[in-house]
Amino acid sequence: MAEETIFSKIIRKEIPADIVYQDDLVTAFRDINPRAPSHMLIIPNKLIPTVNDIEAEDEATMGRMFTVARKLAEEEGIADDGYRLIMNCNNYGGQEVYHIHMHLLGGRPLGPITVG
Ligand code: 5GP
Repeated sequence: MAEETIFSKIIRKEIPADIVYQDDLVTAFRDINPRAPSHMLIIPNKLIPTVNDIEAEDEATMGRMFTVARKLAEEEGIADDGYRLIMNCNNYGGQEVYHIHMHLLGGRPLGPITVG
């Protein structure tokens, strides 16, 4: 059984977060340390620690993460200019919170992908 992270408490609204979307499969909220004018995290309500742990039964949830990203980008007014979706996996990928999350970043030119 995977260990819960702070994100489970955000999903259950046990600690404060700026939640911008929630449904039966996913929750989205603003990153506490934004790296761009718009920086949101889209996460499954189910605890999946890393991308390595995604199963076939999670495909609907993974798809929902993308449709919610698209919807939030539209609502945020960043869809046409463009944005970046990122998922970090494990140590080398720079993952800090072991509950998978999709970063949605936009609101300024982000330039080419930079690595460590
Ligand atoms: P990672 O490095 O794991 O891909 O990204 C984790 C992200 O979660 C970071 O961008 C970090 O700022 C964000 N984060 C960590 N703890 C909290 C929190 O308690 N609330 C919110 N809103 N974001 C958090």
